[in-house]
Amino acid sequence: MEASLGNTARKPLSILFALSLFVSGCAFQQQEVVSTAADTSKIQQPLTVSTPITQLSDEKIQLALKNAYTKFKNDQSGKNADYIKALAEVDSKLYGISVVTTDGRIFEIGDVKSKFSIQSISKVFTLAGIMQQTSPAIVQEKIGVNATGLAFNSMIAVETIPERTVNPFVNAGAIASTSLIEATDSAQRWDLIKANMDNFAGRELDLNEQVYQSEVNDNLSNQALSKRLESYGRIYSDPLEATTVYTRQCSVNVTSHDLAVMGSVLANHGVNPITGKRIIDADNTPYILAVMATAGLYDNAGSWLYETGTPAKSGVGGGILAIVPGKLSIGVFSPPLDGYGNSVRGQLAAAYIINELNLNPYDASH
Ligand code: GLN
Repeated sequence: MEASLGNTARKPLSILFALSLFVSGCAFQQQEVVSTAADTSKIQQPLTVSTPITQLSDEKIQLALKNAYTKFKNDQSGKNADYIKALAEVDSKLYGISVVTTDGRIFEIGDVKSKFSIQSISKVFTLAGIMQQTSPAIVQEKIGVNATGLAFNSMIAVETIPERTVNPFVNAGAIASTSLIEATDSAQRWDLIKANMDNFAGRELDLNEQVYQSEVNDNLSNQALSKRLESYGRIYSDPLEATTVYTRQCSVNVTSHDLAVMGSVLANHGVNPITGKRIIDADNTPYILAVMATAGLYDNAGSWLYETGTPAKSGVGGGILAIVPGKLSIGVFSPPLDGYGNSVRGQLAAAYIINELNLNPYDASH
């Protein structure tokens, strides 16, 4: 009948005391790390050591790109974003794939010179900017690094998740990240964000004025998110000013080539492998890649990671950026999106290339 707690409670205190002395004595006995070697006759070499990128031949990469291009070229699923009117007008057939390796090789196929608005992929570079100005710990504290499991523009996430901003890639956290850029005014905030993106790309990017005008007059949901963050004390400059700068950063034009170059900086510990210029501290790159893995493809991030093992980021302009750390970066442009707001062919092509080249970083066999 009696529960065990009752039994223990009736044990004389002296027994419990002796027992606790014995337990703590055991804890004191072993303070060194003990390393036990296996029987040397049985020690094996690890199955593999990661193959360096220099050993991945041009021919193999070219073939993977060609196949990824032809395999999905006629896939017409998905649809252009239309909540930003200018995006609905972009030619849905455009399709370009670019790869930049950390040893500085470039491979491209399709519409790789077509410009499109970077949209949410800009959030990766603003995150890099605030991390450079502050630290990974401050980003974690002031923005957050967890997944919402909800849509990228979710107000429900702001209302229900105690961190409010949650992570730098959902709109709420991204606007807060823009607001966290240390600047004296809006113009300087924009200049810093834009110069940072240019540095990643290794060239001066231009602004898609049509997309900007189309979004800045119509971004009421983002304005609402920023004002709600203000009420929670989770935005760090004037909310509407930050929202306008954020909208501008999303309207910067890139090509799939630019995306691959920008991503190659993250694949290459912060150094642009084409220009040789260090853009961010090497120590910051794993943190940025971790957020990309957690939240880069929003509420589809789990499925993406399951299929490729790579950090990635999408934008509603149709861009996808996927990174294989230490090896290469893939930029794809194809405007039609799935229900999560991620480019359909972008995901298919990038996943195909990663798996075809055996580049899943979680697979220890290559
Ligand atoms: N500018 C877009 C927005 O704020 C970016 C969204 C995205 O690319 N996922 O809605």
